[in-house]
Amino acid sequence: MTHSPRKRFGQNFLHDHNIIYSILSSLEAKAGEHWVEIGPGLGALTEPLLKLGVRLDVVELDRDLVALLKDKFRQQNNLQIHSADALKFDFSALAEQNEKLRIIGNLPYNISTPLMFHLLDNASCIEDMHFMLQKEVVDRICATPGSKKYGRLSVMMQYYCATELLFDVPPESFDPVPKVMSAIVRLMPHRQPPVEVNDIKILNRVVIQAFSQRRKTLRNSLKKLIDEDAIIALDIDPALRAEALSLEDFAKLSNLLQELP
Ligand code: SAH
Repeated sequence: MTHSPRKRFGQNFLHDHNIIYSILSSLEAKAGEHWVEIGPGLGALTEPLLKLGVRLDVVELDRDLVALLKDKFRQQNNLQIHSADALKFDFSALAEQNEKLRIIGNLPYNISTPLMFHLLDNASCIEDMHFMLQKEVVDRICATPGSKKYGRLSVMMQYYCATELLFDVPPESFDPVPKVMSAIVRLMPHRQPPVEVNDIKILNRVVIQAFSQRRKTLRNSLKKLIDEDAIIALDIDPALRAEALSLEDFAKLSNLLQELP
């Protein structure tokens, strides 16, 4: 069976064996662990993972690929293939009591951000996640205060996880060749949140508002939500811009907003 890559499903298949090897080595997968792969495609990562003796669930949207995978891996009894949309898939249902899942995926870039947040809704049953993403997105996830790339994605992802860029992956490693550079990111959900946030929705609102006009000072960008004196009372300088604030500062602002009448 052959398969022509489909653009609408974000299909860029990995074919560089050195990269596949580097990804596998960095995972340190051990026999008996429960893994979930999102978008297995033609099985470039699936096959070596199975060889390591892990229990594997894969979630694939393209029905033609599902048929192909079922055929290719018909002998494998430690593999479950789910024909489904990962954005709607209930990942927590895969984890048995007290079990933590390890997640891997060379993700379709157009759905990578909503998919990561969908997974983080179930962060308590996730040990760690390794994703191939557009490098630009990995840089934003891992950015620290003061950097141009620091923004909503950095603050929200770092609230949930420890983030780490592992290595870059050049376009030629894929078929078809994408236009952008890619990178592998490791996300490890925090066991305890690094800061206390009373309501994550409010944190999200403050972060969106603060970065919506990143060149403005907090005094101006947050005007509609919090007044200047309240910002000063939190020991935060209202003349700063959003990109100077730490996760802890954003947590303080969002907890204050929650208390306001
Ligand atoms: N892991 C493979 C394929 C990566 S391409 C490799 O590295 O070679 C991205 C894969 O995600 C494709 O197989 C595509 O069909 C699948 N995909 C796209 N959207 C999806 C979705 N919403 N849910 C699950 N899989 C999806």
